[in-house]
Amino acid sequence: MKKVWIALVFACLAVAASVTIPKIPWKANDRTRPLPPVITPGTPSSQDAAGKPPSDATVLFNGKDLSNWSSAKGGPAKWKIGNGYFETVPEAGDIRTNDSYGDCQLHVEFATPNPPHGVDQDRGNSGVFLASLYEIQVLDSYNSKTYADGQAGAVYGQYPPLVNASLPPGLWQTYDIVYHGPRFAADGSVTRLATITLLHNGVLVQDNVALTGPTNWESRPAYKPHPPKQPIELQDHNHPVRFRNLWIRELAEGQ
Ligand code: MG
Repeated sequence: MKKVWIALVFACLAVAASVTIPKIPWKANDRTRPLPPVITPGTPSSQDAAGKPPSDATVLFNGKDLSNWSSAKGGPAKWKIGNGYFETVPEAGDIRTNDSYGDCQLHVEFATPNPPHGVDQDRGNSGVFLASLYEIQVLDSYNSKTYADGQAGAVYGQYPPLVNASLPPGLWQTYDIVYHGPRFAADGSVTRLATITLLHNGVLVQDNVALTGPTNWESRPAYKPHPPKQPIELQDHNHPVRFRNLWIRELAEGQ
């Protein structure tokens, strides 16, 4: 019996030791290794003004019009333009980027309605959908309760944020998202899970979580194969939520 236990312990150790140490194809401190591209970093936003995106970012909203966006139902995006921001028009439907994006760093700023209206999920609800499928919840979660995996900063229906870092309604808040999309084999099986890292107002609230599949209300549907690049989508949940300073930096494979 003792021998069996010892064998089991060694088997477990063998499994634990089976991680692959990455092979870096350069010597340490190799001066012939190519240097990273030089960019100009962005500037932070204030409540009064949106900051500047990094120089290598693709700007998704120019502060003036929704020319980079369309209605998810087809046709032009029918959300409202304000002074440097745009706003959900209840019943106008979701909007999505005209272009498709894959693995990325995505910056979004939003403000929920002030004065606040409604309770629970019916309060400043919108959402940022990576690949049009995987929702990071936008909600007024400042002194307002709902279920854990549906509050601001949640991967909807899957992962609550690590902390509630919400600001009061009406104030501009930031989401900085790192998204790696799923990959699929030719037979449709998943070879890599989608992962999301999220900073809400500069605070880490999602730490490289692995998604179970697309996000949904009261269910966790299985992954369905889709191309690595798909549009970014914003949700119309019948609340006038504002957005500004949206930009994206696509990541190369393996980054
Ligand atoms: Mg939502």
